[in-house]
Amino acid sequence: MASEHVDVLIVGAGLSGIGAAVHLGLRCPDKTYAVLEARGAIGGTWDLFRYPGVRSDSDMYTLGYSFKPWTDPKAIADGESIRRYVRQTAREYGVQEHIRFHHRVVRAEWDSATARWTVHAHRDDTGEDTTLTCAFLFTNSGYYRYDEGYTPPLPGVERYAGTLVHPQHWPEGLDVTGKRVVVIGSGATAVTLVPAMADTAAHVTMLQRSPTYVISLPSRDAFADAARRWLPPKAAYAVTRWKNVALGVANFQLSRRAPGLVKRFLRRAAKGRLPVGYDVDRHFSPRYDPWDQRLCVVPDGDLFTALGEGRATVVTDTVYTFTEHGIRLTSGEELPADIVVTATGLNLLALGGMTLAVDGADVDLASTIAYKGMMLSGVPNFAMTIGYTNASWTLKADLVATYVCRLLRHLDETGQQIVTPDAPDTDDLVPIIDLQSGYVLRAVDQLPKQGPRAPWRLHQNYPRDVRLMRHGPLTDGVRFARAGAPATAAAATSGGPDA
Ligand SMILES: Cc1cc2nc3c(=O)[nH]c(=O)nc-3n(C[C@H](O)[C@H](O)[C@H](O)COP(=O)(O)OP(=O)(O)OC[C@H]3O[C@@H](n4cnc5c(N)ncnc54)[C@H](O)[C@@H]3O)c2cc1C
Repeated sequence: MASEHVDVLIVGAGLSGIGAAVHLGLRCPDKTYAVLEARGAIGGTWDLFRYPGVRSDSDMYTLGYSFKPWTDPKAIADGESIRRYVRQTAREYGVQEHIRFHHRVVRAEWDSATARWTVHAHRDDTGEDTTLTCAFLFTNSGYYRYDEGYTPPLPGVERYAGTLVHPQHWPEGLDVTGKRVVVIGSGATAVTLVPAMADTAAHVTMLQRSPTYVISLPSRDAFADAARRWLPPKAAYAVTRWKNVALGVANFQLSRRAPGLVKRFLRRAAKGRLPVGYDVDRHFSPRYDPWDQRLCVVPDGDLFTALGEGRATVVTDTVYTFTEHGIRLTSGEELPADIVVTATGLNLLALGGMTLAVDGADVDLASTIAYKGMMLSGVPNFAMTIGYTNASWTLKADLVATYVCRLLRHLDETGQQIVTPDAPDTDDLVPIIDLQSGYVLRAVDQLPKQGPRAPWRLHQNYPRDVRLMRHGPLTDGVRFARAGAPATAAAATSGGPDA
């Protein structure tokens, strides 16, 4: 039986996948599409994570879509509000009826003769395997494993008689009231959880191996509030978005060019919010430079307030062993704990775990080079969304989706069916994600690389990417062809079919 065929197959119904479908519907209304989603719900990250206080750490004027103003007064929003925004978008733009839930894509095979992908999905609900074909495959599957968060080895944990929880798998209804809680970790999740639980817990201790940069930002944006009063919603959203983009770019550039200055500024800002005599250097002055890892944002200084009021404590030390009633540290100190939360991170996963093959040969992701941070060398009619590491994810996701639409229209206008990035001739390759965070370093060897310069280098700079991707050429570094042309440049020059 022939498989069902769509023009574009989108993998993932999270923030990016829903945005991609909307862009496609608006810019290429004649294209048929389907969205395959492994889970039973829309929202991805914002549906999965349910720990207390879960929220964005970017402002929603840049984490929201370019086409749908974020109108909630909260600039830093809770997970529930973001989930609602993504679902509303799917309903409002008619994406909902294109989504097939419980379809986990496991493999996609490209065939140059027919210019089609055959995409294999497994239904976790019924156990069935299904197959679709598509002309263009667009993965929006996020960047980490959904089934398992990262937990490092925890010596002696089998002896621990309390409750051990990973934020990615938060037990519904876990009551922390009156409990002594230890949160292991110092990243965005830990700094969110600590003040949220300190409201009701007996005490919360954040146990970190080493400090992270933590910066307080207002949860409401006074500029956005004023813009909303004076301008129509779309204009107010656009000016606030650009204001925040400009601030973000300026902060990042300053951190790169004058790290010492930014370090001193962050230290002074943290010190100003902490009690007199607090050991800022021990607990809030990292050894690395700002933006070697993501900065952690705390809205209205909530973490610093909890520390100042004595409801929470930061301990910088390492776990020697778990005991029956808590954790013994390397320093010898004991931390009694009814609940231990391992906010120790994510397991990075490329392309939602799916494998790719091109004309019968498996694609080794680690030996591909990312084109404009969104396509892969030697892989035809394929795009993936990976957001910025130094700015809101959606800024890049919007650009990738609009670029895919430009490419699709270009193919139609020129009567061609295939677009393939051809790898640049260089050994000067670096990892696709340029952060030094543990979760990146653990997986970086399995990920695509990037080259020395555009279009093979990711800028991590939104205004520059707007020029490159919205207005720049479509033809640099890629080969366009008709169905039947071989996928690799080598095969093309040696005279494959219809070369
Ligand atoms: C706790 C947390 C907070 C964050 N806060 C911010 C923030 O403030 N700002 C920011 O910019 N970024 C933040 N991020 C990064 C965040 O993941 C992105 O902002 C954004 O949610 C990514 O959206 P996405 O749709 O690309 O991926 P996801 O949200 O991960 O969604 C991917 C979807 O694809 C589905 N999927 C995956 N593999 C397959 C497959 N093989 N087949 C079918 N479906 C599949 C998943 O089930 C999921 O629904 C945060 C991440 C986490 C974990």
